[in-house]
Amino acid sequence: MPKLYADTNLQYIKGVGPKTAEAFYEKGITNLEELLQFYPRTYEDNRIATKIASLKPGSRVSLIAEIYSIQSNSHSRRHELIIQDSTGQISCSFFRLPYRGYFNQFQRGFKVKVSGTVSIYRGKLQFNHPQVSLLKKDEVLEDKLISVYPELSISSVKIRSIMDSALEAFNNKENIITLKEVLPLWLQKEFNILDLQKTLLNIHKPNIKDAEDFLNFKTSYQKRIIFEEFFYLQLHLALKKYGMIEQKSISMKKQTKLVNNFLDSLGFKLTDAQATAFNEIESDLYGTKVMHRLLQGDVGSGKTLVALLSVLTVIANGYQAVLMVPTEVLAKQHFKTAFSILKKLGFKTELLTGSIKAKEKKQIVEKLSSGEIDFCIGTHAVIQSTVKFKNLALVIVDEQHRFGVGQRNKLHSKACNPHFLVMTATPIPRTLSMTVYGDLDTSVLKEKPKGRQPIITRAIYENKKDKVWDFVLKQITAGRQAYIIYPLVEESEKLDLQNVTDSYEKLKNIFPKSVKLALLHGRMKSEEKDQVMKKLENKEIDILVSTTVIEVGIDIPNANIIVIENAERFGLAQLHQLRGRVGRGLHKSYCVLISSFKSSKESFDRTRILENSDDGFFIAEEDLNLRGPGDMSGLRQSGIPDFKMANIIRDVLTLKEARLAAFKLIKKDPKLELLEHQNLKSAYKKYSKNFIA
Ligand code: ADP
Ligand code: MG
Repeated sequence: MPKLYADTNLQYIKGVGPKTAEAFYEKGITNLEELLQFYPRTYEDNRIATKIASLKPGSRVSLIAEIYSIQSNSHSRRHELIIQDSTGQISCSFFRLPYRGYFNQFQRGFKVKVSGTVSIYRGKLQFNHPQVSLLKKDEVLEDKLISVYPELSISSVKIRSIMDSALEAFNNKENIITLKEVLPLWLQKEFNILDLQKTLLNIHKPNIKDAEDFLNFKTSYQKRIIFEEFFYLQLHLALKKYGMIEQKSISMKKQTKLVNNFLDSLGFKLTDAQATAFNEIESDLYGTKVMHRLLQGDVGSGKTLVALLSVLTVIANGYQAVLMVPTEVLAKQHFKTAFSILKKLGFKTELLTGSIKAKEKKQIVEKLSSGEIDFCIGTHAVIQSTVKFKNLALVIVDEQHRFGVGQRNKLHSKACNPHFLVMTATPIPRTLSMTVYGDLDTSVLKEKPKGRQPIITRAIYENKKDKVWDFVLKQITAGRQAYIIYPLVEESEKLDLQNVTDSYEKLKNIFPKSVKLALLHGRMKSEEKDQVMKKLENKEIDILVSTTVIEVGIDIPNANIIVIENAERFGLAQLHQLRGRVGRGLHKSYCVLISSFKSSKESFDRTRILENSDDGFFIAEEDLNLRGPGDMSGLRQSGIPDFKMANIIRDVLTLKEARLAAFKLIKKDPKLELLEHQNLKSAYKKYSKNFIA
C-alpha cells in the first residue's frame, strides 16, 4: 500500500470508485483532507428507548412498538396511531400526514420503529409528528447516532462507508496526514475553540455518551465548526467595514438655516428618535469618511422625514441625492411629499420610474447628468445603465429588504464613494442584523410620532367573517375607509390572483351598492394602479381589495381598518407591516386577521401574537423563532448565506463570539498579512465566494 497524504486524491481511498469520486468532485472535494472536512450536517437519533413506560416529556427517542390502532379523520384533520409495547401505550398524532395514504401501510399488530420527541398534550404523553417506519424483517437496530451528510449523488450509506475508510486511513500511523489548521492558535485559545484534529476525529463518529449534546449541537466539536462558519462571514463584514472606514468621501457643511426652514414648514416637531437619528447622519456627512448607515424604524416611525433632512443637507451643499424605493406607488408618494417642500427651498426634485415615457425619461436622464436635478426619487429605473449623475453624493434605499444586494450595489456604483443610507421597516432582530448588516452603522427609530393610537387587533377564524363585514360597513358609514387584503405568494401566484379577484366579486355582493369597492394587484398596469390610488386618496373608494402590493409605505390617514384574509399564510413581520397601513390618522384603528379553517392551531396561535404586541422588533424576533430565518420575507436575498451547520437562532452565542473574534483579528492584522493568518486567508477566499454582498 502506498502512503496516503492529506492531499492524496480521494480515488486512492478504499471503496472509492469513479462514480463516487465524481460525486465528491462535484462538491469541490478532491483529496483526503477535504473529504475529512465534509462534516455531518446533523445526526439521526438511532438510540433505542427502553420501554414506553419510561418515556419522559421533552426527550427525543426512538423505540420499537406494535401498532394497536389507527384513526384517521379527514374532517377534523386529526390522524392518530396508537402504539404499544409490554409496558404501555402512547399516541402518535399527526396534523398533516407526510403524504396522502401514508397510513395505508400500517395495520394493527405490525411492528414499527418510531422516532420523535415526547410531548404532553392534555396531560398525556404523545409523539407529535414522529417518524414511523415498518420494522423490516431481521432489522437489527444499533444503539447509536447516525451521521447525516449533506446530499450528494451517491447514497448516504455509501458516504458513511467512505468516511469510515477515510478515518481509518487517518488513524493509520503508516500514513502522514497532517491537516491544515485555519484558525490561528491565539484565537483558538482566547475563544476556547477546539482544534481541527480533535474535531474531526469526533464529529464523524459521535460518542453515544454525548448523544444528547450532539443532537442539540452543543458539543465543542460542533461549536468549532459552527464558529468557523460564522467566522468567515463576520470576517467578510469586518473587512468590508474596515475598507469603508478607509474610504474618503466628500464632507458636507452644516445647513442649519435651511434645515430649520424645512422643519418650520412641517407643522409638527421631530420626535426625539428622529432628531437623534438625523444627528447621527449629520455627523457622518460632515466627516471625511463615507457614511454607511442603516436606518431601522417600525412602520410609521417617520423614516422618510429623516431621509429628506439628509437629502436637504447634501443638495444644499451643491451635490445630488437619489432615493430608490421598491414600488411605483411609493415613489410617487415620496415624490409628492418631497417635491413641494424642496421646491419652496429652491431645489429641483424629479421622479424616475419604469412607466415614464421614453422621451420624458431621456430628458430626465440628461438633467441628471447635467446636474440640473438635485434630487431624484425612483424605482429600479434609477439603476439603469443610461442613468448618470453629475455629482451624486448621497444614495438612499428605502424598504431595503425588497431589493437584492446586487441592485443596491448597482445604485451605489453610480458615484465614487457616495454616502449611503439604507432604510428598513422590517425590524430586523439583532441576531440577524449582526449577520447581515454587520458592516453598517445603525440608527433606530424606536419611538413613533405622538398622538398615534394603538391599533386594535383581533385574530379570528373564518366563521366570524360576517361580523367583520358588518363592522367594516359601520366604519365606512362613519366616513372611514378600509383595506381587505389577500395573500399573494410566488409559488401559487395564479391561484392567488384568482382568489383576490373572486373575493372582490363576492365582496361587491356582500356590501350595499352605495359602498364603493376597488381592486388592486401587482399585475395591473401602472396607470390603472395610479388611478386606484388617486381615487383612494380622494375618498372615491371606500374599500380597497388588494394583494400585498400595499404592504410598503402607503399612507392614507383616513383608512382605519384593515382585514387580512388567510392571515396564517403570512409571516408575522409582514402582517405587522400590513397593519401599519392603518393607525396613521387620528381615528381609532382596527386590524382583523382571519385564519382559514385549513390552518393549523399553531399558525392560528401565531397570528394572535399580534393581538398583544405592536412592537415590530419583538414580533420579528418571534417570527424568527417560530419560522426560522429562511422564511423571513426577503431576508434570503439580503445576503445571509446558507450555513451548513450553523443556525443563527440556536447558535447566537457562538455567532457573537465569532463576530468579536473576527473584528479583533482585523484590528490586529487589517489586511491578513501575518504569517499565522495565511491559512485562514486562503480558506476565507475560497469560502467568501458564497457571499453575495
Ligand atoms: P415610515 O417610517 O413607515 O416610512 P413615514 O415616513 O411614512 O413612516 O411617516 C409616517 C407618517 O408620519 C407620515 O404621514 C409623516 O408625515 C408622519 N410623521 C413623520 N414624522 C412625524 C412627526 N415627528 N410628528 C408627526 N407626524 C410625523
Ligand atoms: Mg416609509
